Amino acid sequence: MANPNPVVAHADDYVRIFDTTLRDGEQSPGCTMNVEEKIAIARQLERLNVDIIEAGFAASSPGDFESVRRIAETLTNPVVLSLSRTRDEDVDAALRAVEKAKHPGIHIFIATSDIHLKYKLAMTREDVLNAATVAVMRAKRHLDYVEFSCEDASRSEWEFMAKICSEVIRAGARIINLPDTTGHALPAELGEMFAFMREHVEGADQVIWSAHCHNDLGMAVANSLAAIRNGARQVECTINGIGERAGNTSMEEVVMALKTRKDLMGVRCGIETRQIYPASRLLAQIIGQPVPPNKPIVGDNAFAHEAGIHQDGVLKNKLTYEIMKPEDIGIPSNKLVLGKHSGRHAFINRLQELGVDPATIDVQKAFAAFKDLCDKKKIVYDDDILAIANEETRRIADTFELVDVTVSSSTRTEPRAEVTLRVGGQERSAEASGDGMVDACYKAIYKIAELSPTLERYSVKSITGGTDALGEVSCLVRDNGMTVAGQGAHSDIVMASALALVNALNRLKSRGPAASPRPSEGP
Ligand SMILES: [Zn+2]
Repeated sequence: MANPNPVVAHADDYVRIFDTTLRDGEQSPGCTMNVEEKIAIARQLERLNVDIIEAGFAASSPGDFESVRRIAETLTNPVVLSLSRTRDEDVDAALRAVEKAKHPGIHIFIATSDIHLKYKLAMTREDVLNAATVAVMRAKRHLDYVEFSCEDASRSEWEFMAKICSEVIRAGARIINLPDTTGHALPAELGEMFAFMREHVEGADQVIWSAHCHNDLGMAVANSLAAIRNGARQVECTINGIGERAGNTSMEEVVMALKTRKDLMGVRCGIETRQIYPASRLLAQIIGQPVPPNKPIVGDNAFAHEAGIHQDGVLKNKLTYEIMKPEDIGIPSNKLVLGKHSGRHAFINRLQELGVDPATIDVQKAFAAFKDLCDKKKIVYDDDILAIANEETRRIADTFELVDVTVSSSTRTEPRAEVTLRVGGQERSAEASGDGMVDACYKAIYKIAELSPTLERYSVKSITGGTDALGEVSCLVRDNGMTVAGQGAHSDIVMASALALVNALNRLKSRGPAASPRPSEGP
C-alpha cells in the first residue's frame, strides 16, 4: 500500500470530512441510486476533496457490493470504505469490496445502547464487547484503516462505551465514531459525551474521534460542532443533508460554519468549497429531490436579498448582510455566459469552471444538447449548462428511449397524447387520453412499457427565468415495492415530463427484481 494512513496523519487542528451520501444518504426513501449515478457522485466528492467516502454497505446486497467495488477502483485520493456489521460475512464482504482501493478502509459498527441490545440484537453487553473486538481484529489482519462505531452512542451508558472503545482500540481501531443515531442529543450533552470518552478511554489520544449526527431535532450541525469543540476531528455528513428520516449533518453547512467562524472554532478542513454548489445540484438532479429554497448555503434564496433595505446595504458593501460570498461556494453568478455562437471550446471551458470534469460525460452529446437549447432560447445560463451536463452524467444503458410525443388539447376536447418509444431497438407507439396533457402522455407511456406504477410525486421547476426557460421535471414512481426517481429537462414541459418518466422507468428496469431492499440499519 502506497500510503496506508493518508487521513490519520494531520495536524491537530485538521477536521476530516467523512462523506456518507452514498451509504446513509442513499438509505433514505427515494434516494436510491444505481452504480453509474453513485460513481458520478463519488467523482464529485473527490473534486470536493473529502477525506473519506463511505461508498456503501457491501454485505447488504450484490448491487451495493458492486458499487463499493467500482468506487474503490475509480478514486485516487480519498479513503474508500464500506460499512459492516460485526459478523464475519459482513467483514469479509467489506474487505473484498475495497480490495482494489488506493486507500481502503472498513467501518464496523454495533449498537451499544441497552434499548438496541435488548430489542434489536438480543445480545448481552458481554456479547457485544466480544463481537466488536473479534470483528476489528479480523479486519485488522487485512488493512490498517479500521473505524469503529458505537451505534446509538448518544443513548448508551458512557462507562460501558468507554470499556468497549478501550477494547477495540487495543484490537487496532484507528477511528472511533460516536453517533447520535436517533438525532436525540442536544449540543452541550453531546459535547460532554466526547469529553468524557476522551478522558476515560484507554488509548484515546491514539485515535481520531468522529461525530455522526442525525437531524431529527434540527441539531445535527450544532451537535457536530459541539463534538469538534470537545476534540472530535472527523465529521460524518452528506451533501444536502440527505439521510434517514430528517437526514444527516449537512456537509455544506458544517464546512461553511467551520470556515466562516474559524475565529471561534480554530480548526480547518480540506474541502474545496467552490465544488459545494455543483455537488449539491448534481445530487439533487440524480435523486430527484430539489433543494428547498431556504436551505442554508445551497438553497436558491440563501444569497438572495429581497428586502429593499438589505439590497441597499448589500449594494453599498456586501458584508453588511452577507457573512459568506456566493462565489466561495461555487454558485454561478447566473450571468449570460454562452449562446448560439459559442463554440465547443468555450462550452468545455465553462463546464470546467462549473466543476464538471469533461472526462466524466459524453461531451459530444452534451454539446449537441447545448446547441439544441441555444436554438430554442436566446440566453443560456450556467444552471442550464449544469443541467445538461448532469443529464449526460447519469446516462445508463436504457431500456426505453423517447422518440416522439404528440399532444393535442383544447378547452372543448379531452387532452390526447400519442407517444413513440424505442424498446430494444424497435419503435412502439400508443395513444391515450387523460386529465391533462401530461396525464395523457404518462398513460400512453405506461401502455408501451407494460407497467402500471404509482406516481408518488411530480414536480416542475423552471431552471432559469423566462417562458422559454429550460423546465426540469422530477417524478417519483413506485412499482413492486421499489421507489425510483426520474428527471427530465426540456424547454417544453410535456417533453420534460415524458423524459422524466422514461428516466424513472429505465431505473426501475436497471435495478431489476434482484435488487433486494437493504436492511435499514447503521449508525
Ligand atoms: Zn446515520
